[in-house]
Amino acid sequence: MVFEDPNGTRILYDPGRTVAGAGDARLGKIDIILVSHMHGDHVGNAHTKAPNAGSCDAPDMSVSALPNTSAVNIALAKKSKIVVGSDMPSFFAAKLKANGGDPANAMLARFGGSVTVGGVKIATVTAQHSNGVDPGYITGELGKAMADNGIWGDVGLATGYVLTFSNGLVVYLSGDTGIVADQEKVVRDYYHAKLAVMNIGDGFTTGPKEAAYVINDLVKPASVIASHANEVGTVKGKVVPGSKTETFIKLVKVPVHVPLSDKPMEFDGAGKCVAGC
Ligand SMILES: [Zn+2]
Repeated sequence: MVFEDPNGTRILYDPGRTVAGAGDARLGKIDIILVSHMHGDHVGNAHTKAPNAGSCDAPDMSVSALPNTSAVNIALAKKSKIVVGSDMPSFFAAKLKANGGDPANAMLARFGGSVTVGGVKIATVTAQHSNGVDPGYITGELGKAMADNGIWGDVGLATGYVLTFSNGLVVYLSGDTGIVADQEKVVRDYYHAKLAVMNIGDGFTTGPKEAAYVINDLVKPASVIASHANEVGTVKGKVVPGSKTETFIKLVKVPVHVPLSDKPMEFDGAGKCVAGC
C-alpha cells in the first residue's frame, strides 16, 4: 500500500511479498518505507517475480529477499528513509551499511515521539503482537546457530503507526495487533485518527469481529480501509460473499473501503473518501 501526500511525498507501508522487489514499476518514487514489524509478510522475506505473478490465493513468491529483506532492497534502490520504532532502526542501519547504503536513512520514531519526513509526521503506536527477527536475516554463524535452535532475534516491540499528512488527514495503520486500550486512549483521544487501515485476517491479528469492535468502539474514524485478510477478499473488484472482508464490512458502522491493486483512493482532511471509492 502506497500513500501519497498532496505535496508529492510517497510512503510505502509494509512492503510484504506482493511488491515485486525494488524493480516493481508500480512503486515509482518512494521517499519513506514503514515497517510495522519484522515478520516476513510485512518486511518482505520473499517476493513475486513480477506484479500479480501467480494467483490471488497462491501468489508466486519464489524470489528470496534473504538476508536483506525487501524493505532494505527497495530503500537501497530508491534512497528511501526507513522510519521504524522500537529497536528496529539499528537492524536496518546495519543492513543499509552492509550493502553500501547510508545507515542514517534508518530513522527512529519510538512510542510517544514522532519524526517529520517530507512534510508527513510519523509516530508509532502500540501493537499487541510479536516481533521476532527470522534467523534467515542474520548472517554468519550466529544466524545458523539461532536457526538450529529455533530462536528468533529481538528488536523490541511490534508497532502500528499514526501518520499526519499535510492536508490535515490523520491515518492509523494498525499493523498486526490484538485489541489494545491505546486504540481508544492514544489513537483516538490523542491523535484523533480519521482514517484507519485495519488488519482483519484473524489468527495472526484481529479477526473481522474484533477489528470491527476496534473501529466502532475504540478508534471511531470517519472511514476505514480493510487490510491483511489472509484470504481472497475480492474477485474482479467485488467482495467475496462469506469472506472475512464481507463480515467486517457488515459489522462496521462507518464506510469501509476495499483496497484494490492499481486503484487509487483520495481522502480529504476529515477522512472522507472524495475520489476512487
Ligand atoms: Zn506479524
